[in-house]
Amino acid sequence: MALNRRDFLKVAAAAGAAGAVDTASAFQREPKTMPPNAVGMLYDATQCIGCKACVAACKEANHMPPEHDAGKSEVMWDVPMDLSGKTLNIIKVYQDGNVTQKDREINGYSFVKRHCLHCVDPSCVSACPVSAMTKDPKTGIVEHHKDRCIGCRYCVYACPFAVPKFEYDGPFGQIQKCQFCAHLQAKGQLPACCDVCPTGASLFGLVEDLKKEAQLRLSKKPGESHRFARGKLGGNRPAQDGTIANYQKHLYGDKELGGTQILYLSAVPFEKIGLPTNVPEYGYPAITEGIQHTLYKGMLPPLALLAGLVYLVHRTAGKPDESGETPRKTKVKKEKS
Ligand code: SF4
Ligand code: SF4
Ligand code: SF4
Repeated sequence: MALNRRDFLKVAAAAGAAGAVDTASAFQREPKTMPPNAVGMLYDATQCIGCKACVAACKEANHMPPEHDAGKSEVMWDVPMDLSGKTLNIIKVYQDGNVTQKDREINGYSFVKRHCLHCVDPSCVSACPVSAMTKDPKTGIVEHHKDRCIGCRYCVYACPFAVPKFEYDGPFGQIQKCQFCAHLQAKGQLPACCDVCPTGASLFGLVEDLKKEAQLRLSKKPGESHRFARGKLGGNRPAQDGTIANYQKHLYGDKELGGTQILYLSAVPFEKIGLPTNVPEYGYPAITEGIQHTLYKGMLPPLALLAGLVYLVHRTAGKPDESGETPRKTKVKKEKS
């Protein structure tokens, strides 16, 4: 179906007007819900010691190359500054004032781990026109499929957490993002970052169980003792004794943007550690998908035209001759000589 400008403006205006009156009636479809056995991670910033073992393990498990500061000719260390086409997981640090107290907003600091949050209703999946981003119906893992990707980078622009990155420095750049180590999980192993984390700051488990564990931590008073699981929640790795921090009384990812399978606890306000807080409790695809997919349908005629052009080019070029080249290419070669 071709969509003209008037149709598009009508659809967009209808959605906008509906949103102003009532969010529910602006939904183009029902918000998606999490699979019952979805797997996830609880990242507790108060347990993170900033060792970056998870960053190194992520690189190794996913065969990602090291990254160096631009302009430095001699480098010995992998020093990624942010998520990129070479880095799927990064530890960042919040700092304030004299930076003396860990997990304090004022005159303090906090670590924060950033990678894909494996959203319950992911914008990247909704925005991808060729289904190169998919969400597993059982585990909820959001995966990128390189073989289907056309490099349009819609997922890069759609992700509210600025996660997918494009490899700009190679001739055949690809989208890169954390796939929750799906290849390791398929072999019964833990995601590399959870496996290597010495404190349990990155803790793997079923999302429902992780939420209960997070609520238990939030229900305790600061200074109270707690046994912090490591590796996998309910796994057989010995837990670590510690004390409860002065948490923000909220589990980030429980509701934000329809929920995420990576959950965050922090003592520093979430917006200060770089997580968007002024967001709705539903994923954006619930209000944009209808309009957007109508537009994709509108793209079919240009795609058909492109396919026709490709066919015509090949037909004009003809069949390869004995040298393996098409007559058109051979002619161009002769003209040059
Ligand atoms: S964080 Fe971004 S890339 Fe990851 S699932 Fe959500 S929308 Fe997709
Ligand atoms: S789950 Fe795997 S890919 Fe994702 S951040 Fe952890 S180690 Fe990296
Ligand atoms: S391995 Fe654990 S403690 Fe070390 S930086 Fe990563 S999340 Fe923090």
